[in-house]
Amino acid sequence: MKIVIIGGGPAGMMAAISAKEANQEAEVIILEKMERLGRKLLITGKGRCNITSSLNISDFIKNVPGNGMFLYSAFNKYTNEDIIKFLEDKGVKVKEERGNRIFPASDKSQDVLDAFISRLKELKVKIKTNVEVIRIEKGNNEVKGVTYINNNKEEYMEADKIILATGGKSYSSTGSTGDGYKIAQELGHTITKIRPSLVPMETYEKSLCKELQGLSLKNVGIKIIDIKNNKEIYNDFGEMLFTHFGVSGPTILSASAHILRYKDAEKLLNEKQIKLFIDLKPALSMEKLDIRIRKDFEEVKNKQFQNSLDKLLPKKMINPIIALSEINPTKKVNEVTKEERLRIVNLLKNFQVTLKNFRDIEDAIITAGGISIKEINPSTMESKIIKNLYFAGEIIDVDAYTGGFNLQIAYSTGYVAGGSTW
Ligand SMILES: Cc1cc2nc3c(=O)[nH]c(=O)nc-3n(C[C@H](O)[C@H](O)[C@H](O)COP(=O)(O)OP(=O)(O)OC[C@H]3O[C@@H](n4cnc5c(N)ncnc54)[C@H](O)[C@@H]3O)c2cc1C
Repeated sequence: MKIVIIGGGPAGMMAAISAKEANQEAEVIILEKMERLGRKLLITGKGRCNITSSLNISDFIKNVPGNGMFLYSAFNKYTNEDIIKFLEDKGVKVKEERGNRIFPASDKSQDVLDAFISRLKELKVKIKTNVEVIRIEKGNNEVKGVTYINNNKEEYMEADKIILATGGKSYSSTGSTGDGYKIAQELGHTITKIRPSLVPMETYEKSLCKELQGLSLKNVGIKIIDIKNNKEIYNDFGEMLFTHFGVSGPTILSASAHILRYKDAEKLLNEKQIKLFIDLKPALSMEKLDIRIRKDFEEVKNKQFQNSLDKLLPKKMINPIIALSEINPTKKVNEVTKEERLRIVNLLKNFQVTLKNFRDIEDAIITAGGISIKEINPSTMESKIIKNLYFAGEIIDVDAYTGGFNLQIAYSTGYVAGGSTW
């Protein structure tokens, strides 16, 4: 029995481990396009790898807005505890951080990758790198083998079972270039609309964001509001970042996954109807913030207004707030009126920018869309169209929020696909 796995990301590696553990006699081989396995895994969690979440399975499913229920069986068969045990058996200790996030205690994604590679070696899984699969060959609706490019030459390899785990279409320098969609489509599979999720957002206020570029705001409240229908799309608390094109950072990435699924989002974005409100002082009510500003002003009452906000705001934010407040910057602080002061309070509690667009899929953490789940058996990950073909990981039309859920999808579906080949 020869099992060929296309793609050596976390899904492909786990599929190989599981296939070999299920059937030691089988020849299991990973075909990976890049020079090394797990390039994307290495950059996860800013190089720290948010391995999984400590939540229970029903909460896992709630955190997978893209077809979460499809994963019920896979999440049950290979849980967060299983991946933690797998890593700990390989000497990788883990720790839990805020938001139920599990990381390696070392803060090094390399340790997670090393654990996978060590197990692959132990199990004598064959690894062929620098080979780009271009086609899966079939006969009688059953897989026969794969055609790939090796040293600029086309080569063919027979296979009894094939697991397609080529990932999504973002951060293409990691090898995830979306090849698998075309390969599956040629076999008759449906690919649902490919869209970026967990992605930075462009704003209409280009010059304002450019001025604030590089400013990272920690512990702020954010709200995404559909102005037209007066509806809240998302709210969160945490970190965000201004960039030359707009906004990014953890809370914005999460918000993007919600906006993606909001009715008529594209139209509303085009109509400038989706706004981001930033609460720069979430710990203080309007009244308390006003008291605080009055106190600050009292201490600098003879200074010019433009020199009065240092204690209240990060440096980069001062000029934009002064401009937006429309208060004469050279005015003496003790001449600032109550109405003007309340304008400042309002700006700090509701600093707003208008969202324009999602950034390109290349900059997305996750690809939403993929192989239609209607064509995959959820308890085996086998294709319902082609016999002996399986899918694992991000190539499937599933996508989750941040928090370690996307990697857990890769391990769980990889485990099930590999184990089902026997
Ligand atoms: C910046 C960033 C940070 C992230 N952080 C986290 C995090 O902390 N926690 C979390 O849960 N998720 C995170 N993710 C998401 C997570 O990395 C992915 O969901 C996960 O890697 C998907 O695994 P996969 O094995 O399906 O695909 P991939 O990891 O994309 O692996 C696919 C593999 O297939 C190979 N391949 C592609 N085409 C071919 C071909 N034609 N022939 C041969 N090989 C091919 C690729 O080279 C690649 O090695 C992050 C993503 C990004 C971009």
